[in-house]
Amino acid sequence: MLYDNPDAFLICAFKHDNALCDPEPGATAPRQYACQSGCGNTVRTDTHAHQLQAWASEIDQLAAHAPGPVGKRLRANADKLRRTADTHDATAQTAEALA
Ligand code: SF4
Repeated sequence: MLYDNPDAFLICAFKHDNALCDPEPGATAPRQYACQSGCGNTVRTDTHAHQLQAWASEIDQLAAHAPGPVGKRLRANADKLRRTADTHDATAQTAEALA
């Protein structure tokens, strides 16, 4: 079962045993509000990667106007999103290759 999770810029291909969002025993759906980066159930499209890059740029703009520590945290968050998008771009496979 696939679950769209636009807030996390991904699709969740839910398998209980892999889930990092700590679903209840026997749950048949993820706890998307508790989605964790690095989960093996994550599927990203090129569109998700582009959205991650765009969101990182917006966060950088906020960081430019934020006080020191807050700006630093925002830039770190933007960098993390950018790395996630870069990882997608470096490892993405076509749907045909996965079939
Ligand atoms: S952590 Fe995210 S990707 Fe993993 S199962 Fe939970 S909702 Fe799905």
